[in-house]
Amino acid sequence: MPKAFFIDTSRCTACRGCQIACKEWNELPANVTKQRGSHQNPPDLNAHNYKLVRFSERLEGTTIRWNFFPDQCRHCLEAPCEHEAAKLVDGAVIRDTDTGAVIYTDKTKEISVDGFEDIRAVCPYDIPRRDRSTGKIVKCTMCHERVVRGMLPACVKACPTGTMNFGDRQKMLELAQQRLAAVRKEYPKALLADADDVSVIYLLIDAPKNYHKHSVAQRNQDMDRKMFLARLGRPLRRGMETLLNL
Ligand code: SF4
Ligand code: SF4
Ligand code: SF4
Repeated sequence: MPKAFFIDTSRCTACRGCQIACKEWNELPANVTKQRGSHQNPPDLNAHNYKLVRFSERLEGTTIRWNFFPDQCRHCLEAPCEHEAAKLVDGAVIRDTDTGAVIYTDKTKEISVDGFEDIRAVCPYDIPRRDRSTGKIVKCTMCHERVVRGMLPACVKACPTGTMNFGDRQKMLELAQQRLAAVRKEYPKALLADADDVSVIYLLIDAPKNYHKHSVAQRNQDMDRKMFLARLGRPLRRGMETLLNL
């Protein structure tokens, strides 16, 4: 049965337990880090962080508002990365039809530099990263090896607040609708981000742009330009990317 996450950001305290649990379970090394004026750390997803709790701070009138967004691959129901990878290396990106997990295999090592750029460009959430030490393209695995043994994903297991939920897709959709109805009493503009298209459903109580540029699927001008350039001849594209400063 297809699985889904329901991530209720209204409950997130940004403790980063999920981020650390992901690193531990996947045996990912620490990053060299420094203070950049934000509690968000590291500054972006990378080959050693499949999960990143994003911090967004802003003034709303005289009130300081913090939004927390535990970012990860959405395991899209029709994954653009899967379609793009299929044009490049057969079997590099596969989907487990039981759980819905979109999985990057060791064959991603065979994908060229340009191929990786194309895969990252078609992802509506800017998720894939390349591990330069192994050559693999990496991202959240849905903790597939745990899920098929009846265990929760490590990030869900570690979350102490009820933000991270995981289970059968239908149950997660029902839970998401219940929580949406509840929080809308206080936050009328609350929404479920791209719920019909993804297996990782976020409840947002503020405008999506106030969490993160890619909190909802991006079909913005920047993306369209990248996809347009991706269709052009690669030598020409390289020159145009430089000219357009993409
Ligand atoms: Fe692929 Fe991006 Fe969708 Fe994840 S979020 S399945 S990387 S297209
Ligand atoms: Fe990391 Fe597993 Fe959670 Fe994905 S499901 S973010 S791999 S802990
Ligand atoms: Fe938020 Fe839960 Fe992650 Fe803590 S563990 S940052 S509460 S999602």
